[in-house]
Amino acid sequence: MSKKTWKEIDIASIINKPGSAKDFKTGDWRSQKPVWNEDKCKQCLICWVYCPDSAITVKDEKMTGINFDYCKGCGICAVECPFKAITMVEEKK
Ligand code: SF4
Ligand code: SF4
Repeated sequence: MSKKTWKEIDIASIINKPGSAKDFKTGDWRSQKPVWNEDKCKQCLICWVYCPDSAITVKDEKMTGINFDYCKGCGICAVECPFKAITMVEEKK
């Protein structure tokens, strides 16, 4: 497996084996990041259902946070949360 970051790999590089997505820490693509307000959270897990990167972490059927190794900052969780418990902020790098 390549150890290069996404900025170093060639354009049109391919993922050449199945099940390798977790090896690629795509969180560094982010320009915005979700901030979770635990006090507002009602544990409905709608964000978990909609997150395209499975970056919402859950334990014992409760949201525990966001895995920033894989969160790309798409903002879907913030849009879908019915309780406005997630807001998007600029990612500081
Ligand atoms: S911003 Fe996007 S990738 Fe990150 S946790 Fe929310 S839905 Fe998932
Ligand atoms: S969608 Fe909102 S209220 Fe529901 S678990 Fe996620 S952050 Fe909490």
